[in-house]
Amino acid sequence: YQPSWEWETQMNERPELKARLLANENPFGPSDKARLAIMESVSVGNRYGHGDAAELISLIAKKEGVSEDYIMLGPGSTDLLEKTAITHFIDGGNIVSADPAYMSLIKTAMAFKADWKKVPLTSDWAHDLKGMEKAVDGDTKLIYICNPNNPTGTLTPADELRSFCKKMADKAPIFVDEAYLEFLDKPIESSMIDLVKEGKNVIISRTFSKIHAMAGLRIGYIVALPSTLDKISSMVRSNMGLCVTSIRGAMASMEDETFQNNSRMWTKESREIVYAGLDTMGFDFVPSYTSFILFPIDMQGQPFLKKMYEQGVGVRAFEVFGKPYCRVSMGKKEEMEMFLDSLKKVLV
Ligand code: PLP
Repeated sequence: YQPSWEWETQMNERPELKARLLANENPFGPSDKARLAIMESVSVGNRYGHGDAAELISLIAKKEGVSEDYIMLGPGSTDLLEKTAITHFIDGGNIVSADPAYMSLIKTAMAFKADWKKVPLTSDWAHDLKGMEKAVDGDTKLIYICNPNNPTGTLTPADELRSFCKKMADKAPIFVDEAYLEFLDKPIESSMIDLVKEGKNVIISRTFSKIHAMAGLRIGYIVALPSTLDKISSMVRSNMGLCVTSIRGAMASMEDETFQNNSRMWTKESREIVYAGLDTMGFDFVPSYTSFILFPIDMQGQPFLKKMYEQGVGVRAFEVFGKPYCRVSMGKKEEMEMFLDSLKKVLV
């Protein structure tokens, strides 16, 4: 069994892209309220932002229904994925996850000599929870689940995932990456955060990069048992990577529910445009719960990416179960139309 992998992109060398649909960024923000808060906070940039971080933690704690000691902030959730990996794999061990999955935490774990026990997604792109259960052994230091998953955009049913986590969290901590959760119509029903409240050793990660459209501003957080957060902060510091402007922007964005709803709605509209276009051209796409769509292509990833770049369109390409796939992020309507036009020229 060959694990999935991603073709190299030259995204940093291609600033002239007309449609940047390669990093699951959100083109609709940041919200006007966040922009204003950021501008107004520049004048306090001479001070460390510990007080502001405490305020954001308090706001998040209230929203999530936990006390403040269940929250840790980071400059993007990547920082917390990596810190979790470092602190859990410093002495090696194995990590159990699906394949394909979002690789950030897994790569850092492997850099610390973790063994990656990959379990292929099922034929309907859900986590193979039975297979993952079997893969867990006495050396498993963490189970990683990305739900909705990246790069597939698919969702594993909440009730099945909840039973799995309830059972397995006693054997190894479970990290549930919920970066795209807020794109769901009813996010809370699919979140595993209730398990943390029940005292299970589950770590939930969220980010301001996706629904809040603040990827470049770098704010994310994890919700976990205080004992887990103590373990992490005994080895690495949490708030020192944070920027006061971004913290204040995040607070303003949290309060701007209209923006969050629009962000969800506009992303959905772009998804519909892409579904219709892919359907017309006969592509068999994977229905998505997120801000990106995966579909199989009849060309190897490298030449495909190059041809799309030549049209001014940046996307990603993966090999999944031995076949090439394109992953396209949702942009504005005109970007999606440009993507569909380019796809037609390149592949149809
Ligand atoms: N988790 C998933 C599943 C992602 O797709 C991403 C980014 O694309 C991240 C985490 C990291 O995002 P950030 O560091 O911007 O919070």
